[in-house]
Amino acid sequence: MRIFDPHIHMTSRTTDDYRAMAAHGVQAVVEPAFWLGQPRTNPGSFADYFDSLIGWEPYRAAQFGIRHHATLALNPKEANDPRCRGVLDLLPRYLDKDGVVAVGEIGYDSMTPAEDEAFAAQLALAISYELPALVHTPHRDKAAGTRRTLDVVAESGIQPGRVAVDHLNEVTVGLVRDSGCWLGFSIYPETKMSPPRMVEIIKAYGTERILVNSAADWGHSDPLLTVATGEALLAAGFTADDVDRVLWRNPVEFYGQSGRLDLSATAAGPSFAGSSIARGGS
Ligand SMILES: [Zn+2]
Repeated sequence: MRIFDPHIHMTSRTTDDYRAMAAHGVQAVVEPAFWLGQPRTNPGSFADYFDSLIGWEPYRAAQFGIRHHATLALNPKEANDPRCRGVLDLLPRYLDKDGVVAVGEIGYDSMTPAEDEAFAAQLALAISYELPALVHTPHRDKAAGTRRTLDVVAESGIQPGRVAVDHLNEVTVGLVRDSGCWLGFSIYPETKMSPPRMVEIIKAYGTERILVNSAADWGHSDPLLTVATGEALLAAGFTADDVDRVLWRNPVEFYGQSGRLDLSATAAGPSFAGSSIARGGS
């Protein structure tokens, strides 16, 4: 089983995690910029964080044979802090960098006017930098938050096939599927989405445009839940090819739209490195 975790915060994880992930087939990850668990006080704090996501963390991942790319953004929660608004001016410089494969995570936390503004501004950046967008949906009031998210995505003019709407569940999957956006699912140890529930969703909706991630971070989370989901799919009768599509080829296709995905160092590399998935082809 080869696995591409399309949403994981490795900065918050140990080298033991990298070792275990590599041993279980995780060969590539995308790390979205998010909040630290405590407020940042100024844009410079983001600049150092962004630099580590495109410099130090890929280097650390490479020690374990794992390819690391990033998505950069002002996250929804900190979009509410006026001290952090300057991050929107910092972003253009960073969105030009090689290892950046999307704008994200953006979207809603509490659905405030400040979040509206940052969300729309960053979708516009995704369009002008020809990058896909990774969109977080709120954990509270999920259906309303997802509906509003899809409205803002539609208003922005970005192609739905270049947007992944993440942290979905049984309540929101149908809405996002109808929108043409990609469907992201974060598998958690105890709450929210689990491997068995993910299997049922894939039984009902198929494997197309589905992304499965661990969203592992500094909270209670598990970077091997992508692996557990692959095993649960096999146990439920899905083929190895189905599992490969969900856990490898789908994230390659989604982030490949950036034109910057480089998988040359992975065991699966050559077949994909040679394909140079065209920029803009969704
Ligand atoms: Zn996240």
